[in-house]
Amino acid sequence: MNQNKLILFNCFKTLFSYFSNKNKKNNILSNAIRVDGNCICSLCGKKYSKHPFDYDFLSSECLGNYPYLNILCDGTRVKL
Ligand SMILES: [Zn+2]
Repeated sequence: MNQNKLILFNCFKTLFSYFSNKNKKNNILSNAIRVDGNCICSLCGKKYSKHPFDYDFLSSECLGNYPYLNILCDGTRVKL
């Protein structure tokens, strides 16, 4: 493979991973459910609000860049 083709190939690779990542994030967002933070997780028995944040999703800068999705033990993202 010559140098130009290699550069082009890397460009496509970067673009592709950008879009597939974006798709993945959109999927997670559209699957996230809005629930009460006092709901109890069926796997660990703790409140939903005690579960870790998903730092891939932050509110916009003017809202302070706060994480707003919690990840439950089964991987479900919830908005509290
Ligand atoms: Zn749990």
